[in-house]
Amino acid sequence: MSHVLHRSLLQSYPTAVKGDGVYIIDADNKRYLDACGGAAVSCLGHSDTSVIAAIKNQVDSIAYAHSSFFTTEPMEQLADFLAERAPGSLNSVYFVSGGSEAVESALKLARQFFVEKGEPQRKHIIARRQSYHGNTLGALATGGNLWRRQQFEPLLINIHHLSPCYAYREQLSDETDTDFVQRLGNELEEKIAELGGENIMAFIAEPVVGATLGAVPAVAGYFKRMRDICSRHGILLIADEVMCGMGRTGALFASAQEGIEPDLICIAKGLGGGYQPIGATLVSEDIIATLRNGSGFFQHGHTYIGHATACAAALAVQQRIESDHLLDNVTLMGEKLQQALIQALGDHPHVGDIRGRGLFRGIELVKDRESKAPFDTSLKLHAKIKATAMQQGLMCYPMGGTLNGKDGDHILLAPPYIITEAH
Ligand code: PLP
Repeated sequence: MSHVLHRSLLQSYPTAVKGDGVYIIDADNKRYLDACGGAAVSCLGHSDTSVIAAIKNQVDSIAYAHSSFFTTEPMEQLADFLAERAPGSLNSVYFVSGGSEAVESALKLARQFFVEKGEPQRKHIIARRQSYHGNTLGALATGGNLWRRQQFEPLLINIHHLSPCYAYREQLSDETDTDFVQRLGNELEEKIAELGGENIMAFIAEPVVGATLGAVPAVAGYFKRMRDICSRHGILLIADEVMCGMGRTGALFASAQEGIEPDLICIAKGLGGGYQPIGATLVSEDIIATLRNGSGFFQHGHTYIGHATACAAALAVQQRIESDHLLDNVTLMGEKLQQALIQALGDHPHVGDIRGRGLFRGIELVKDRESKAPFDTSLKLHAKIKATAMQQGLMCYPMGGTLNGKDGDHILLAPPYIITEAH
């Protein structure tokens, strides 16, 4: 009997004892090919020597110093690294310990920005259905996954959910990409007209939707249109790249692939690759200037902001990705994976769609390909797939329908960037 409050109170878990490249090895010496990076986290696999050395080195010097007393070299260097590569004027980096905290920080920065700018009435946030932005209350409020939200609903306020850009189910058969983008843009404009643009603080979206839909990129032009509408109404655009960012789609920032510059970008997962818990919010110069000329302070904070060992690990992860040109491998292997999936499963009667970008791929399972009817969620198909795969030494990330009644089960694949064709 474990004293840990595990995710499931009904199931026991194998004990992971060692990492070996793209494999995790358990206490019985069984090897699992990590084809999903856990939850799209382990971008460098599990035994990268340069990252391990950087962590040891940092612990030998100073493991942690509270950020209200000190800065540290790895925190400064990691911020420089990210700011130099981020789109446009996203030059300030707020370090946290994970994705939900990165989203919470973005929401609070957006709110404080408008309060200090003299627009305190801006309190509404527009998000999208079938999205996931984290499990802390602010982040959960923005997410559109009904299963995750339902019992906490009374605590989740001032959020409005629009249609996701989910071509497989939402794009009409006679609709071109341009028409589809136009319709989704109109939906945003209508919501803005209803709430009053001057009352809205932010629009938040994942450039490639991860956990809730299974690697769904937007159709071309969608983000440009949303950026344009937000800018016209002074609404901040928050790109949640916690799952799809940091190279997962073949570019360091997925929003750059869309040709847009968000006001805030949230990153985590692939930032530290799981070697240490770390996330960050990248903030535009405009927001920072308002705070600098106003209170001079961001009204927020966590104990482990900018944890020196976590920053050292993340810096080593990012340097290794860059120096070994691993994003080229993400693009190449991502295309090979897509082709292999289509070859193996493209005609399967229960595979409705195979999609994604880079090493971020999703397989949507349907009861019927013609009608796209999803399986009954009570079948808990995703749990069975996960258990079967684990028995066979494979980690994949299946998820069940989100109770929206439209989307079904899907399997997410997000292998480490070091994956080879042989794997
Ligand atoms: N945002 C997105 C897009 C995510 O996929 C996740 C986690 O899956 C989060 C936020 C929350 O991140 P964390 O689990 O690190 O709090």
